[in-house]
Amino acid sequence: MRLPVLDPTRPVVPARSGSRPERGLADSYGRGVGYLRLSLTKACAMRCTYCRPERITSTRGEPMLDVDEIETLIRFLAERHGLSKVRLTGGDPTSRRELTEIIARIASIPGIHDVAMTTNGLTLERRAKEYAAAGLQRINISLDTLDPERFAQLTGVDELQRVLRGLDAAIEAGLGPIRLNSVVVKGQNEFDLPSLVRFAAQRGLEARFIELMPMGPLASVWRERYVPEARMHEILRQTVVDWQPLHQGHDAARRYRVMLDDGAETIIGFITPMSCNFCAACNRIRIAADGTFYPCLMDRPIGTILPALRPGFDRELLDAILKRGLDGKREEHPHDGYGVMTHIGG
Ligand code: SAM
Repeated sequence: MRLPVLDPTRPVVPARSGSRPERGLADSYGRGVGYLRLSLTKACAMRCTYCRPERITSTRGEPMLDVDEIETLIRFLAERHGLSKVRLTGGDPTSRRELTEIIARIASIPGIHDVAMTTNGLTLERRAKEYAAAGLQRINISLDTLDPERFAQLTGVDELQRVLRGLDAAIEAGLGPIRLNSVVVKGQNEFDLPSLVRFAAQRGLEARFIELMPMGPLASVWRERYVPEARMHEILRQTVVDWQPLHQGHDAARRYRVMLDDGAETIIGFITPMSCNFCAACNRIRIAADGTFYPCLMDRPIGTILPALRPGFDRELLDAILKRGLDGKREEHPHDGYGVMTHIGG
């Protein structure tokens, strides 16, 4: 049996030497930008305990980048700065009425090779095929437990079966490789890790376990609820009998090809912003639905890109806003997050 080597001091990629700026944009540590995470709305039909305290189903009246502005922004980033990868998030991106059109517009931009989405899975049963036909390539689905009662408690909606049917629809629509995202919270779902891994292995999915970040409703009790990666390995010790580390690159997850005690195989990824951050390899920026620009998920935003898009597109101003944000990007994220995940887009 091979156990994973857990070295919290291990650098992922040396910031100054390893991560070459993709084209124009880079921060002061030499980290280029190749990946945009775009939040399409704050709205989400779930209210997960660690993410948001209340359900928001309507954002009517809030300023949002419209479909043309989204296309202009991404086309510019791809053409001028070599952006190649976009992940749609939220809130829940499926709560945005124009989602299919947004996917189609982004997918048609030359240079964009990867269009992905993170979702709660509630609309996939009806819409997975439509999203795939529009050009969506991959999805991550949030799933913290397979126990229906606990699912209802954790998410505020009694809809586990609908999410699972959505997952099947996504597999059928070819939206793979599909990753299951589980935020691991002590006393809430850490005992679900073995069943989530078995489920992932049965369905040909990748299981991703995310360390709780001190943001949102559990921020004040973070110390008591946080489960570090090392503890997750312990919880999985009986279930996983072989761990083969995979190359990490710019991926936020430390990934392993694993074999389970019943001979099944799958991939497990650990997203460890708290025990072993992956800041050195960070090549991403985030833009919220209202245009707020976050060079780092856990740091303050630097302002908004809206003035560069309205009333007309001003590419020099957009560059200036992006450069100012990237110049201020810290080498490592602060310990506590400032924003609300549903606004930033986790
Ligand atoms: N609604 C979508 C979903 O359910 O995946 C996308 C948005 S959600 C904010 C994106 C990711 O952020 C999810 O994987 C979610 O579990 C994660 N997340 C939210 N709050 C978190 C926290 N405090 N710590 C760690 N991850 C968190």
